[in-house]
Amino acid sequence: MQKWTGTTTPEMLRAGCREYGLRITPQRTAVYEEVCRSGTHPTAEELHAGVRRRFANISLDTVNRTLLTFARIGLIEIIEGYGGPRRYDPNRTLHHHLHCLRCGTVVDFYHEEYDTLAVPANLQHKFKVLSKKVILKGTCGRCQSIKKKHHDRK
Ligand SMILES: [Zn+2]
Ligand SMILES: [Zn+2]
Repeated sequence: MQKWTGTTTPEMLRAGCREYGLRITPQRTAVYEEVCRSGTHPTAEELHAGVRRRFANISLDTVNRTLLTFARIGLIEIIEGYGGPRRYDPNRTLHHHLHCLRCGTVVDFYHEEYDTLAVPANLQHKFKVLSKKVILKGTCGRCQSIKKKHHDRK
């Protein structure tokens, strides 16, 4: 479940760029591949570190702007504000998030019942809902075991 299981492919980058009249540059391709390969919800800084292995001179600003462009044309999503640095999500299939409040990890999960949650009747006419995402906040397994170890030592 931790691994990204969406269907994002290089073809989607080509199709997206063509549709919006964007040039497909080697840098854009590298940023896109990096975000798809990351398998999680990386920050621009994390992606920048990866892309720099191929394009030593690419700036964080360029990576940032590229990611925002991808988000604008729907290739990736910007994760709901968690207070920390902005994170990106390459998983375009309908899914939900587990958010660890200790380490900040965001993990995808799939649950059909959440996909089909009904919109409250009193909101249905006021707001046109395009997507729904359920966010479960708490402590991930790793953080729980760290806390336990720490506790055991005392
Ligand atoms: Zn955690
Ligand atoms: Zn996600």
